[in-house]
Amino acid sequence: MFYFDNFKGKKILKSTLLSESDCFFTTREFVLTKGAREDLSSIADENRNLLKSSLGVDKIVTANQTHSDNIAILEENKYFYDNTDALISNIENSLMLLNYADCVPIILYDKKDNIGAIIHAGWRGSASEIALKTSLKMQKELNIKAENITALIGPAIDICCFETDEDVFKKLIKNEADTKFYKKKENKYFIDLKLLNALQLEETGIKNIDICRYCTCCMSDIFFSYRKEKGITARHSAVLKIKGK
Ligand SMILES: [Zn+2]
Repeated sequence: MFYFDNFKGKKILKSTLLSESDCFFTTREFVLTKGAREDLSSIADENRNLLKSSLGVDKIVTANQTHSDNIAILEENKYFYDNTDALISNIENSLMLLNYADCVPIILYDKKDNIGAIIHAGWRGSASEIALKTSLKMQKELNIKAENITALIGPAIDICCFETDEDVFKKLIKNEADTKFYKKKENKYFIDLKLLNALQLEETGIKNIDICRYCTCCMSDIFFSYRKEKGITARHSAVLKIKGK
């Protein structure tokens, strides 16, 4: 279950499944990335400094997100990953951050082995199954078990607002009989990207999944929405810090 909490007085969204871990989704109030909103640049810088100092880290690890299915396993002393939409870390005290305005933010964390990931899954990433690929990569290359992974699917544009044409629908929905993933109204399709990503994670064996039903487009007073704000918007973030000893 998701609940609003605060980080040094700024509104964040957490899940009861990982309430004790340093992982959460930010809101407009705790903007960390300006996006197209130059006016939010200085507050975003201030907030990033607050995040780092409060969590006791010097650097934030992030990526240039391109709606790809490129996944990086963090390397020591490398803090920026070009053309990457999922970051995986087994480095203690590493602080990862990716950014969103309607796309689906996903945090995976295996508390037992202390290995985690953040994924950026818009419709392209969902179609190329980046969530599934990230989970499998963690399991195979870092030798962890699906049963130990908890998945948080954060705030994103929901089925109420994610209206697409047939071309996008066909890329996302392989079987039209799977009506729980979409609704059709006249010749438009409304797609449930969160549920599609949850299914991908389930296919890799993950059972512990929390889905946030907040729609960023309906709730653009709290989150940033590319669609609602017609592209002139900043980004909210998914944040995960791998625990130190
Ligand atoms: Zn909505």
